[in-house]
Amino acid sequence: MEQIEHSPETQSAKGEQVFRGIGVSPGLVIGPVFVRPPQDDSFVEREIPREEVPREIARFETALIETRRQLREFQQGCDPAVASIFDAHLLILDDRPFIDSIVTGIESRRFNAELVLQDVARGFMQGLSRVKDDYVRERVADVQDVTRRVLHNLAGHKSTLADIRTAGTVVVANDLSPSEIVTIDRNRVAGIALDLGSPTAHAAILAAKFGIPAVLGLHSISREVRDGDLLLVDGGKGLVIVNPSEERRAQALRQEEIRRGIRTGLLELRDKPAETTDGYRVTLSANIEVPQDVEAVLECGAAGVGLFRTEYFYMARTEVPSEDEQFEAYSGVAQKVAPGGLIIRTLDLGGDKFLSNLGVQWEESNPFMGWRAIRFCLAQPDLFRTQLRAILRASVGGNVSIMYPMISTIDEIVRANVILEQAKKELMERGHPFNPHIEVGAMIEVPSAAIVADLLAPYVNFFSLGTNDLIQYTLAIDRGNERVAYLYEPTHPAILRLIKHTIDVGHRFGIWTGICGGMAGDPLMTPLLLGLGVDEMSVNPAALPLVKDALRSVSYAEARVVADQALVAHSAEDVHELSRGLTNKVAPEILELEQ
Ligand code: PEP
Ligand code: MG
Repeated sequence: MEQIEHSPETQSAKGEQVFRGIGVSPGLVIGPVFVRPPQDDSFVEREIPREEVPREIARFETALIETRRQLREFQQGCDPAVASIFDAHLLILDDRPFIDSIVTGIESRRFNAELVLQDVARGFMQGLSRVKDDYVRERVADVQDVTRRVLHNLAGHKSTLADIRTAGTVVVANDLSPSEIVTIDRNRVAGIALDLGSPTAHAAILAAKFGIPAVLGLHSISREVRDGDLLLVDGGKGLVIVNPSEERRAQALRQEEIRRGIRTGLLELRDKPAETTDGYRVTLSANIEVPQDVEAVLECGAAGVGLFRTEYFYMARTEVPSEDEQFEAYSGVAQKVAPGGLIIRTLDLGGDKFLSNLGVQWEESNPFMGWRAIRFCLAQPDLFRTQLRAILRASVGGNVSIMYPMISTIDEIVRANVILEQAKKELMERGHPFNPHIEVGAMIEVPSAAIVADLLAPYVNFFSLGTNDLIQYTLAIDRGNERVAYLYEPTHPAILRLIKHTIDVGHRFGIWTGICGGMAGDPLMTPLLLGLGVDEMSVNPAALPLVKDALRSVSYAEARVVADQALVAHSAEDVHELSRGLTNKVAPEILELEQ
């Protein structure tokens, strides 16, 4: 990938402003801008003279009234699941002890409403997180959200994505958190342009999954455009054009029509096998984030689900889902994809995915290298065991497997398996059926795991390469940082060697190896991965038809030759060239439009 200049903006001859970033979700869209301002809660601490106290209390009450009004407005016309989040928030705004403590706090301490509100809310949240009852503990996130909203209103309203009213809007922001994107209203948001981000940032994965054209890593776009500007987003080429000319708009609309036409044509591949021209088959599955995504999996003709990122299911709700709710969700997906498989990845929280309602201190100076995924789950055995019980209960149909994320040592697999055995024992005591032979896999996404794959193999039934993290950790590039995104090279010789080594070790131990990171969703990489010997690929449902087309366009024999040459290549560019040589048969028109 080319290094992007830090002043990406250019002025075109027609007076348009052109920004270049990283295209992460293909498609062309033209729509009005909605700038989502940074959601920081900063405020200035102020002492209030005695005579100003009534005015300060009135200011607080006005902010409360405004917050109630906004919440009721958001509730109108939104999804019932989302509406219930706002119900919980309204209840907090009517909680007398909470509100009274703030009013009396302003009177007695004589500080501004922001400070007193924040202090009272903190005390409230600490109290809630100490309560044994899960339901009460989960209210912490609601108090936090409501506090933030009231703080925004005290400061003058800072808009959030829930304020978007117009269909076809392009959201522009410095960054969007995974939990913001997972609850995005797809009827209103048609495009995304962010200052931060890289090809494997979670914002990128989610935008692609939703089919929302998106360009990330634009550095300063959120400071350069205003609400109401017209923006053209080309999520394939990574271009953003502010106030495009008539001519440019007409051309973009024509291109988008062609792209959609080719995409529709590719749907014909739905029922065709994922097989090379010489009859070699691999399992081609899809990745999902929430149970509803299973519809897209069925539509694209995937063999099953190769990665269910369960943490998003937790994030898309107000409270931590109970064992029964998880069981319902997991078994619903398992039944729909049967006889295809469903690989459920246990919680991968941490990094940039947090749950505020666990009463956990998330602040770390280096979260991607910190308390994340299996490390977090092993430290929260109750939460982990609850999820494992739910997965086990969903396994009765025989098509569900478990996958542990971010494994870096044998010890983590051994400890996770001990907790799994405890979960099985608990279910047996309760008389709940499950598949006692459920398969367990390890994600290979930390270089140490790839290097010691031979030590891990005896403890698992399969490996799945998480290349998003494997690339991040091997090449030392923060996957959310647009400044180093140019170093993201799936074809770097170090990455190819780790992939090849893992696959070979897997085969030596008689276990299959899949790949569920973003690299598997790039059709230009398909022949290479095939030639390296991968047994399964799990990709975004939107990418699946293209990958299947790529698979069906090459022979296994020629893919092996390319892989052998790639393994002795000296640079990522050389491997790209080799790969491109084989993929020129893959729907060239669409690659031209989408890459
Ligand atoms: C990966 O790291 O490649 C992966 C599939 O997991 P995630 O993107 O959810 O970290
Ligand atoms: Mg990962």
